[in-house]
Amino acid sequence: MIQLAQNINPAKAIIDTLKEYQGEIDNLPTFELRSNKAKDVFSTRNKIGNVVFDAVKVKLTEMCSGARRCVYCEDSVADEVEHIHPKDLYPNFCFHWDNYVYACGNCNGPKNNKFAIFRNYDGNFHQVNPPRGTKATQPPAGVDALINPRIEDPLDFCMLVIKKAGTTDAQKAEYTFNEVLRLNEREFLRKARENAYTNYKSRLGYYTSEKLNGTAQSKLDRLIENLKQEAHPTVWKEMQRQHSKGILKSIDKYLDDLFVKSPEALKW
Ligand SMILES: [Zn+2]
Repeated sequence: MIQLAQNINPAKAIIDTLKEYQGEIDNLPTFELRSNKAKDVFSTRNKIGNVVFDAVKVKLTEMCSGARRCVYCEDSVADEVEHIHPKDLYPNFCFHWDNYVYACGNCNGPKNNKFAIFRNYDGNFHQVNPPRGTKATQPPAGVDALINPRIEDPLDFCMLVIKKAGTTDAQKAEYTFNEVLRLNEREFLRKARENAYTNYKSRLGYYTSEKLNGTAQSKLDRLIENLKQEAHPTVWKEMQRQHSKGILKSIDKYLDDLFVKSPEALKW
């Protein structure tokens, strides 16, 4: 799971139309009506050829890492507009631009309407999605317990799981990574992250040897761009972090030396 690029927004006309769509939902008198309406109108409008959603998808694509990879698994192509706050539980965010990310079907399907909060009235963790087959009811007020990659860096939470077991942030990480997205349980993702580690390392090794051999900057720039297009950018961020913290040299001395020879790679 990767934090998305910031400050990317559709044109004002698109945002204004989304607000109009949202107004049609917000004007309804009950939560049930708003929830039903959100589901109906979103699926009607979120189609290829709809000018608003075509524009939304262009901007969501710009926010993606690599070759339009899914924000959650960083592995598969992102091709579904996903609501961070599920639309049937939070119909008031159905057409909010800030509530959208681009995800793959493998992540979006199981995530479905899973969501949790820490309740305002007692601070307790509370899963707000209804049991399967039952209708959504209005969630109590609270603070989100699902990491939001539009505004938070999931990497900060990876560290929290290890360091601060028992805190609400650790609970948020456990819920997001393991319960909702199952990022550690899905074996193919674990293998893909191992491959990504090897790929990033080889690319940095090749870049470094080319640089030391005096290769032209234009070719080096292409090598940098190729590295940035790799899937699983979280793996790369973690490699950079481990070097910066001084822990990489005891884990992978060859890789640590590459960062010493090419410190510019810490900014990629
Ligand atoms: Zn995915």
